[in-house]
Amino acid sequence: MEDLSPICSQVRRDIVRMVHAVQSGHPGGSLGCTEFFVALYFHVLRHDPKRWDMDGTGQDLFFLSNGHISPVWYSVLARSGYFPVKELATFRKLDSRLQGHPTTHEGLPGVRMASGSLGQGLSVGIGAALAKRLNSDDHLVYTLHGDGELQEGQIWEAAMSAAAHKVDNLIATVDWNGRQIDGDVDDVMPLGDLRAKWLAFGWDVLETNGKRHG
Ligand SMILES: [Mg+2]
Repeated sequence: MEDLSPICSQVRRDIVRMVHAVQSGHPGGSLGCTEFFVALYFHVLRHDPKRWDMDGTGQDLFFLSNGHISPVWYSVLARSGYFPVKELATFRKLDSRLQGHPTTHEGLPGVRMASGSLGQGLSVGIGAALAKRLNSDDHLVYTLHGDGELQEGQIWEAAMSAAAHKVDNLIATVDWNGRQIDGDVDDVMPLGDLRAKWLAFGWDVLETNGKRHG
């Protein structure tokens, strides 16, 4: 992360500028996930922005399930070459491809799923992972989820189905920041022992603080 630190700073600037310009959006989760997104797009993902297409055959895929943190995603997509950086200035404006919640019908490169309605990204990721297995494509599928999002029942149905189908080419990440739109996750609906829950659903679990010293 030391090498990627300058990109993280730039992405944070992008997020603040985008949200402040329209006085609308979700800066908290975006800023909190900056290191994750920069590490993913500038170090981990095997992807070629110039060859982007909806199928993503022969490339790693990423699905953002907690779509409201779109500012950080749009920033890393632009900074890694999916679309012009200057387009970030259209965030949340009428007729922009960069809507507050990502959509697919504007055809923004890098976005393969509409998100905003929480709880759906894991199901989509599992479908994509199964498709890669059917196509003998050994690339990986990544998803990101908010911790508040885990209160959605569909997440756990999907988690159970992934184990049932022995999906082994999917990495789902949870931004366990303890906060959601209505307050503390523990006050709204506590997640309990999250590690034990995922283990019980048949998943391998790794924990990190998500920052450079993790
Ligand atoms: Mg949260």
